[in-house]
Amino acid sequence: MVSMKIKTGIALSIISLLTIDVFSQSTVIDDYQKFFAIGKGNNKEIAIIRKYKDKEKINYLGIGLNDLKTYILNAENAKITTTPWKTILEQYDSAPYIKAIKAAKQKSTSLQNAGIQHGDSKEKGISLTIDLCPSHKPLDRIIFSSIIEEFKKFKTPEPVALSITGKFLKTHPEDISWLKNETDSGALEIIWINHTYNHKYDPKLPLDKNFLLEAGTDLDEEILLLEKSLLETNLLPSAFIRFPGLVSDAKVFNEIIDYGLIPIGSDAWLAKGETAKNGDIVLIHGNGNEPLGVHDFINLLKKDKDAALKNEWHLYDLREAVKKEFEKNN
Ligand SMILES: [Zn+2]
Repeated sequence: MVSMKIKTGIALSIISLLTIDVFSQSTVIDDYQKFFAIGKGNNKEIAIIRKYKDKEKINYLGIGLNDLKTYILNAENAKITTTPWKTILEQYDSAPYIKAIKAAKQKSTSLQNAGIQHGDSKEKGISLTIDLCPSHKPLDRIIFSSIIEEFKKFKTPEPVALSITGKFLKTHPEDISWLKNETDSGALEIIWINHTYNHKYDPKLPLDKNFLLEAGTDLDEEILLLEKSLLETNLLPSAFIRFPGLVSDAKVFNEIIDYGLIPIGSDAWLAKGETAKNGDIVLIHGNGNEPLGVHDFINLLKKDKDAALKNEWHLYDLREAVKKEFEKNN
C-alpha cells in the first residue's frame, strides 16, 4: 500500500509539526478537549485551542493567528504559554484570526446566516463552500471532477471548503477516500469546516428551536466529537464552523466563538437563486440532496471558463480570503 505523507503546516524549527499518514490505520484520540495557549516559533504565532492524546502523546491543535491555518504541535517540543481565551481575544486583536472572530460577532444576532459572509471583494473569483449534511445519497463527485478538469492546467491544488458532519463522515468512507486521493494527487486542497457531529434537524420544530437551538443539544459533542473524528480519519479541522441550517442565536453564537471557531455564513446560496460575485462565499450542497445548486455551480464554472483559462478567475482558499479581508487596517 502506498504511504503518502501530507504536511499539516509549514516547517517550524521550535515547534515540530506532525505529518499525517493518510493511509495508516485510523488513529485513536483520547482526552480531546478545549485548551487555550499561545505557541511561538519562527515568527509564527499560533493560538492553541485544543489539547488531546494521540497514542499516549499529548498534542495541541492551534490556528495561525496571521494565516488562519491549522497546526498540530507535539507537546514534547512545543513552547507554549497557557493563556485564557479572553486574554487571547484582547492581546491579539490586530491578528486576522481574532479580527475575523470579532467581525463575525457583529453579526451574531440574526437567526439565519450569522457570521462572516464574504472574503476580499477585490479577488477575481469566489470561495466555494460545499455542505455535507447527513445524507443517504453519495457525494456529488461531479462538483469536484468539474473543478479539477477546469483548473488542471495550472497544476496547483484548487481550494474548496467542505462543511462536514460526523454523520456524513462515518457513513461515506468511500467518498472520503476518494476526496483524500484527489488531495494527495495535488488536484484539490480541502479546508474542513465544522458542520457539527449530528446536524440535528426536526421538520416539526420552528427555526428558533431547531438545529443547534434544539433543546438538549450538547455543544461539546457537536463540536469536539466532529473535530476528533476528523483527526481520527487523518483530516485536519479548520478554524471555521458553519451552523446547521445556517441557524443560530446570540447565545449559541457566543458559545461557539468560545471554542475558538469562526462562524461562516454565505452571501450566495446558489440553489436559492442567489448569484455569485467576486469575493463571495458561495454555498452549495454536495450530499446528493441539492441537484439545483450543483447544476448552478457547474454553469458558473462554464460562464467563467474563459477567465479561468486566462488565470483571471479562481477558487480562493477560504483561509486566505478571510485573512485578506481582515488583515487590512480597518
Ligand atoms: Zn447542513
